[in-house]
Amino acid sequence: MLDVDQGDAILIQNGGSTVLVDGGPKPATLGRYLDQLALNGTTIDAVVLTHQHADHYQGLRELFATRRNITVRYFWENQDPSPNVTLARLRDSIAARVRRGSLIYRDTDDPCANGAPLCTVTLKGGAKLHIMRPDPDGQKPNNRSAAIKLVGPDSASFTMWMAGDAEQDEIRWFSSAGYDRSPGMRVDVLKADHHGSCNGVSDAYLDAIRPSIALVSVGSANDYGHVHLQAKTIYRRHRVSWYRTDENGTITIRARGTLNSSYTISVERGEHNADGQSDRRASAAACEEQ
Ligand SMILES: [Zn+2]
Repeated sequence: MLDVDQGDAILIQNGGSTVLVDGGPKPATLGRYLDQLALNGTTIDAVVLTHQHADHYQGLRELFATRRNITVRYFWENQDPSPNVTLARLRDSIAARVRRGSLIYRDTDDPCANGAPLCTVTLKGGAKLHIMRPDPDGQKPNNRSAAIKLVGPDSASFTMWMAGDAEQDEIRWFSSAGYDRSPGMRVDVLKADHHGSCNGVSDAYLDAIRPSIALVSVGSANDYGHVHLQAKTIYRRHRVSWYRTDENGTITIRARGTLNSSYTISVERGEHNADGQSDRRASAAACEEQ
């Protein structure tokens, strides 16, 4: 989980495959990571934009900067109409690559382009990425977030659930859509929905996911009060500890993916479960659906 301030950007590497889930709020910030990780001139096998908010898509524009010479093979997003000019620019870059035949553009509403709600992508090292259709009736961009389950080459070694900024309506919908049965929602690590907002977690959600750890991608001085105190109360109630990018910087998980092996989490700095300067109780209105 890259430290991109208030936003999300998650890089996955497995056996030579590279996947990026969201790109954070700033092209320059993602660009620094592309340099650091030596991704210029390489192929990124899959990019998934979970939903259409700038703190998730804006940084992705940097992938298409000509001087970076990056090939993106597959790009998933929900393709909903949007008045946003910067999203239109990103889509123009995608369309140009599609015309050249170098990129396949997929709609998260039909992730395998075969009518099925679930598309499974196998990475070169054997890890699997399950990309799930978002709630078709989601009433705002957050509730149109695609869910993604990452499964290590040996499924017992590592699993992770990521669902963008899905809020109460959609996290309830994930179970009713049957994702708790296929591909299954129980995982080791949860990417905290919606940057640790109280509207991105519930007892029922954690009962379904049963994570050991939550990773929160959050800016230290965000206006929203993320990570909300109510969310932390729910995590604590379920004995879920957390790391957060504002306190811990980039968070790295390594899983060997071999039988009976486990995974390790390392951070740039700090301790887990830290409080942040932004943490506060949300307004009752923001959390009324609890
Ligand atoms: Zn967001």
